[in-house]
Amino acid sequence: MIYKERKFNLIRAFQFGVDDNELEVLPATDLVDPPQLNTHCTQCGQLIRNHGFLKNDRSYEMVCPGDFIIYENRKVINIVSNDAFKKAYVKMEIEDVCVIE
Ligand SMILES: [Zn+2]
Repeated sequence: MIYKERKFNLIRAFQFGVDDNELEVLPATDLVDPPQLNTHCTQCGQLIRNHGFLKNDRSYEMVCPGDFIIYENRKVINIVSNDAFKKAYVKMEIEDVCVIE
């Protein structure tokens, strides 16, 4: 038998470089030495200067343009690439959701 879970979870997320930043994402120009800004990211191939950095407890995590940042209570839960995010999540229209803050 195959079962599907009844319950689904709503998450909060924003797409870096597309949506307004809902958390503080520092521009690469604040943290990266100028010569490295014009090198290409090994993950997405875009220039490092177009990336952002999220502060973790001890370090910074790089965010590629188009990545989705999933968060809760102003804490980052996960950073997910555009493709992976769109396979796993569907955008809810505001009428579909009754959010209790
Ligand atoms: Zn990248």
